[in-house]
Amino acid sequence: MKPASFDYVVPRTVAEAVEALGDTGRKAQVLAGGQSLILEMHLHRIRPERVVDINRIPELDRMCVEGGELRVGALVRHAAFEAADAVPGPLGALLSRAVVNIAHPPIRSRGTMAGSFAYAHPASEWCAIGVALDATVEVTGPAGAREIAADGYFLGPNRTARRPEELITAVRLPLLGERTGVGFIEHRRTHFCFAQVAVAAVLTVHDGVVGDARIGLVNSADHPVRARAAERTLIGAEFGPPPTRRRLPDDHPFARAGRVAAQEDAAPVAEPYADAAYKRQAVAVLVGRTLREAAADLRARLAAREGDHR
Ligand SMILES: Cc1cc2nc3c(=O)[nH]c(=O)nc-3n(C[C@H](O)[C@H](O)[C@H](O)COP(=O)(O)OP(=O)(O)OC[C@H]3O[C@@H](n4cnc5c(N)ncnc54)[C@H](O)[C@@H]3O)c2cc1C
Repeated sequence: MKPASFDYVVPRTVAEAVEALGDTGRKAQVLAGGQSLILEMHLHRIRPERVVDINRIPELDRMCVEGGELRVGALVRHAAFEAADAVPGPLGALLSRAVVNIAHPPIRSRGTMAGSFAYAHPASEWCAIGVALDATVEVTGPAGAREIAADGYFLGPNRTARRPEELITAVRLPLLGERTGVGFIEHRRTHFCFAQVAVAAVLTVHDGVVGDARIGLVNSADHPVRARAAERTLIGAEFGPPPTRRRLPDDHPFARAGRVAAQEDAAPVAEPYADAAYKRQAVAVLVGRTLREAAADLRARLAAREGDHR
């Protein structure tokens, strides 16, 4: 189907974009990468009266590190995170492991992280990482600029705390310290499908015990989930040697965290090829595996640092 007709506006500054959005209220849509918007318009699920194309606003196309945070401008494409060294430290490793799961290269070369935060699909990898890491969403609207913590930002499928007349100008993520390991594992039907379930895990260890654990669940509820109950079971757990068996023993802290995530944190929504029980089981298994991957990543990082000091 062809989209319904609309007005097309190309602002050159954030102020012009906000003015164009505020003018028509709910009937205006921002065009960033267009990888979700154009599809929705063809399907007539979104029928904007005005499309505000932000691709000619140079200040939105910047990524930088400031005050211990990565600031990702609204035009930074998914593909910018593919190289592990594009972003310093373990955060760069996490983003580069996650990004290859987003669709395929042409979509990654156009789609943006901020666009994913605006679209708020429950199966978005970035959104789950955002809630796990306490991201901050910067928005500007007719009333000025404000910041929204990821914790209260996602309200449901395609629903967020952003007002329709507000433009996301950037997303900020905290950098991760060197005593941190990261993991990301995704389960999906084919390479180009959205995730059935995926998990992001971040483990920080001090003096041989887990000091901080962050777990983000993708497509395990109608919004991205931070698995806080599972995280709590890990704090203070001994960071012992790696498990020798391929399957984690049931009494291993990572396996326990997986079961807690599945029972207490996830609220899966059935979909055609994955009912809720299947997704819950996938959460239990993937949380355990992803924590194991994060622990292996941390061991490799610590070993490399020791090598550097020799
Ligand atoms: C075949 C296919 C497979 C895909 N697979 C995945 C996947 O596995 N994982 C995944 O996460 N995504 C996937 N996507 C979606 C893709 O990642 C999109 O790029 C992303 O959802 C939106 O980013 P965008 O920049 O393209 O936004 P657009 O399509 O331009 O916009 C999407 C929505 O967000 C709004 N918006 C965009 N930017 C802003 C802004 N700065 N401020 C305010 N509102 C804004 C728009 O108005 C619109 O409502 C897939 C898409 C397709 C077509």
